[in-house]
Amino acid sequence: FLPKTAEYVERSERRSAHNYHPLPVVVERAEGAWVTDVDGRRLLDCLAGYSSLNFGHGNPAILAAAREQLDRLTLTSRAFLHDRFADFCAALGDLTGKDMVLPMNTGAEAVESAIKVARKWGYEVKGVPADMATILVAENNFHGRTTTIVGFSTDPDARGGFGPFAPGFRVVKYGSADAIRDAIDDTTVAVLIEPIQGEAGVLVPPDGYLTQVREICSQRGVLMMADEIQSGLGRTGDTFACDHEGVVPDVYILGKALGGGVVPVSAIAADAGVLGVLKPGQHGSTFGGNPLACAVGIAVVDLLSTGEFQRRARELGAVLHERLRGLAGQGVTAVRGRGLWAGVDIDPALATGRQISEALLARGVLVKDTHGSTIRIGPPLVISEEDLHWAVDRLAEALSDL
Ligand code: PLP
Repeated sequence: FLPKTAEYVERSERRSAHNYHPLPVVVERAEGAWVTDVDGRRLLDCLAGYSSLNFGHGNPAILAAAREQLDRLTLTSRAFLHDRFADFCAALGDLTGKDMVLPMNTGAEAVESAIKVARKWGYEVKGVPADMATILVAENNFHGRTTTIVGFSTDPDARGGFGPFAPGFRVVKYGSADAIRDAIDDTTVAVLIEPIQGEAGVLVPPDGYLTQVREICSQRGVLMMADEIQSGLGRTGDTFACDHEGVVPDVYILGKALGGGVVPVSAIAADAGVLGVLKPGQHGSTFGGNPLACAVGIAVVDLLSTGEFQRRARELGAVLHERLRGLAGQGVTAVRGRGLWAGVDIDPALATGRQISEALLARGVLVKDTHGSTIRIGPPLVISEEDLHWAVDRLAEALSDL
């Protein structure tokens, strides 16, 4: 470790809970796709805060919106309205094509909100008997860390030791429309899925899967709820990953990049027939929809409205995937993903994902491993083509040094 890094790592370990195993790098500042650490190293960020920094570190438009808002008004709570609230809800409602928006803060809160709304919709609109609602979720899902959510995780690390868990969830195989069709019964109120499973290793379902899920949900009177927290807002080359198949879910669940890399902003968006089931006093959040969050969220929606970021993700994504496929047989066993987002499986006989992440860190590239021998590459969408090539060159180098 470099001297300052070593000191920060040691001090962080000493007084923080050890629920993460971060790479040994201590970031001090950042701009665009590049960060600088406390020892003065410049590193190319190819993780982008797990898709929270789609628009880059310190995006000028987002910072300007945040600064303007910081000087004027930052919090009212939802006891009062404020002058940015209506505009944010309208902007995100327009982006999603939905009537209504429910702002929250973190992704997990948005998922919890979607679960609550689906259950209430099930009882009040679908006519499911009280407390009988079930929600279908997919194997290898990742929707957050609350007790309800980890209760339907299939990852032993995520759920082990945290029970008892909330009932009302049924796990089906990801990527199989038949599995969903077979599992739906009269108690099913919703199907909750990631259109691409990020944490599982950027798993892309078979073509036509989302379309089939949409059809099944429509036929059976079940809400399709798409967790686009990591996949949405430009990452895959479309505004939403569901757009790839022209699919419109009943409920969009959004987070991460919605906060522009500045503040936690999440939301669900749905039509009035769904989100309208919530009445005063039935759900809330002190910070949800606060003025600063709304100002940043409006700036984010503005950035997406030009299509520029989606286009960059599409075009640079094609470059990234072509380059990564070229590493097949050189230590890479599989490459998945869409847009500027890739899961790269490393031959487990050669190295773990962690070892590759550390080797890339030593060469100036930040990525993070997931599940054994997979690494994830998802740089800010502002990355230059030259820098993207440079990052893949560093990966090739790290692999050839194994
Ligand atoms: N859903 C998905 C698909 C995610 O990728 C994540 C975070 O990685 C979450 C939900 C949880 O978001 P948060 O960490 O903001 O609670």
